[in-house]
Amino acid sequence: MNIENENSELFNNLETIAYQKSKPFCYTCYISVKGIHCQKCGSNDNMRLLEGYGVEYGTDWIIEQLISENCSPVDEDFAEESLRDCYPETVKVGWVEVDPIDAIKRLDPISFQIAVNEHIDMLKEDNEIIEIAGEDYWRSDIQKYICDNLKEEVV
Ligand SMILES: [Zn+2]
Repeated sequence: MNIENENSELFNNLETIAYQKSKPFCYTCYISVKGIHCQKCGSNDNMRLLEGYGVEYGTDWIIEQLISENCSPVDEDFAEESLRDCYPETVKVGWVEVDPIDAIKRLDPISFQIAVNEHIDMLKEDNEIIEIAGEDYWRSDIQKYICDNLKEEVV
């Protein structure tokens, strides 16, 4: 399965959960709708009501809400650990033994931050990290949320 398919499956599942956790809502009549058409005015131009949060068209806002509440954003410290794994040996500067990552952090913090960002970008390209509403999340966290929340459709 290629990365795009993997991602669309993930977002399809999130969309399904968003539908399961929300209700159709007719804004004109200000009532939640049973089925597809509003029982009062007959319109099928329904918004989605997420109990306790509000009413809005579409499911993107629901997905953002659910993920931000149930998954933790990526903590950048993991990138530092990965960089340390790449440079495990201490180096000698003059007569002092230093840890290369500690040294770079102090000597060139901008370069260090660029390396962290590049590492995160690489994981985004590999789809290990997924951005939702401007925040980075581990794919595995989102996947876990999906496994815990996706109900099988009742046929
Ligand atoms: Zn209505």
